[in-house]
Amino acid sequence: MAGERKKVYGRGANECKMCGRKQGLVRRYHIMFCRQCFREWAQKMGFKKMS
Ligand SMILES: [Zn+2]
Repeated sequence: MAGERKKVYGRGANECKMCGRKQGLVRRYHIMFCRQCFREWAQKMGFKKMS
């Protein structure tokens, strides 16, 4: 019984949390998104209203 716990974040830490892409990653608020997903996420979160 050798349970190796490294990162519970799944495969690779440098990939989009939504779609799993590794290109054009945006790292904000300790979340990793690709540009497209970040855009959608930001709109959902109402980031447009902040500025
Ligand atoms: Zn994505």
